[in-house]
Amino acid sequence: MIPRYKPTFAYADLFKSLSRKGRREAGPQLVSGLAAIHNVKHVFLTKSGRAGIFAILKALDRPGKALMAAYNCIVVPEAVRYAGYEPAFLDIDRLSLNVTAPMIEGAFTPETTVVFVTHLFGVPCDLDAVLPFLRRRGVFILEDAAAAMGAEYDHRLVGTFGDAAVISFQYTKVISASSGGAILTNSDELAGRLERIFHEARASRRAIGPFLRSTAWKTLFRPAVYPTLRRADRLIRGDRMYETVAPLLEEPPNYFEKCAPFDCALIASQLRNLEGNLRRRRHIAEIYREILKDHPALQIPGIPDKSSPAWIQFPLVAPHKAGFYGFMQRNGIDLSWTYRYSCAEGFHQDGFPNARRAAETVLGLPTYPSLTDGEAERVGSAARRYAETRLP
Ligand SMILES: *Cc1c(COP(=O)(O)O)cnc(C)c1O
Repeated sequence: MIPRYKPTFAYADLFKSLSRKGRREAGPQLVSGLAAIHNVKHVFLTKSGRAGIFAILKALDRPGKALMAAYNCIVVPEAVRYAGYEPAFLDIDRLSLNVTAPMIEGAFTPETTVVFVTHLFGVPCDLDAVLPFLRRRGVFILEDAAAAMGAEYDHRLVGTFGDAAVISFQYTKVISASSGGAILTNSDELAGRLERIFHEARASRRAIGPFLRSTAWKTLFRPAVYPTLRRADRLIRGDRMYETVAPLLEEPPNYFEKCAPFDCALIASQLRNLEGNLRRRRHIAEIYREILKDHPALQIPGIPDKSSPAWIQFPLVAPHKAGFYGFMQRNGIDLSWTYRYSCAEGFHQDGFPNARRAAETVLGLPTYPSLTDGEAERVGSAARRYAETRLP
């Protein structure tokens, strides 16, 4: 079976990252590596993307409404709440699955203090359209590049357009570890405040937890293990195609921490191959686009001009999602149903039809760098066969 995700590190990276010396040097190395790649002044390493969002909002200290896409990761509005802000939602564009300028302008109120510019699935927002209005309003622009490390807009990396940005190294992202995230910013003032917040923060020093977690992730996706575990998961939990997800209202224990040194080492070891990683993802997306482009029943993502996505998955809109998922399963292909909810519904807010439609219809084709061309062609051809035989 072709899995929906695969961790981007090798077993050898895991063992290398255990070295005491390596772990001691990994944090500063990763900070300077990320700063150099993005050409930003300040980088802070966190336990997760969500912890990064939380820290930025705490440091900013401008409580009010934080506008974000309703079709989003539920941990984003949760982090907003924990930091003392009120999540407010925006509908998305049906084709790009990202927010647009008119939607932001329509939802903007005097209480809005922060606007999230999210590059969902690693596909950049149309920044030329979105940024000028936000700049005129003087609102804080938080770029959520959690899923989009390495994606480019107008030959510049995303994560460098807003007032601050987060990226994530969770196991489904461009570069994976057991967990991890980073904050990027050019603002000296914000960095000074973040400095104080991080001064008090702890990092789990022990390597054993992250080592076991990432080894378990790595093992889970092995061909001998994965199909059995997926079958068990389907039996126990069923296929989760669409749900209303209630947010966690209480901040979990150890929510805000620095990145564990082991994870820093594991991420740093993969930074060298970022270009190769992205090249594979873009090549795989091209294979899918080529096979599926002239079959409109399955909608392929629309990407803005001047953009080069990082593709953590290749999202497809399938009118009958469960049917498509089942068909692909029978062909030995596991698709991702990552965002099977609209965050607005979890917060009891109505009126975001495109977000709801996306939650009901989008499935992700795999794009991890170790997927071979042959496997990508198998995935694309099966999707095409489904569209030709099952869809009008
Ligand atoms: C994954 C993701 C996050 C959260 O990152 P974590 O490291 O899991 O906290 C936030 N926003 C988006 C768009 C994401 O894809």
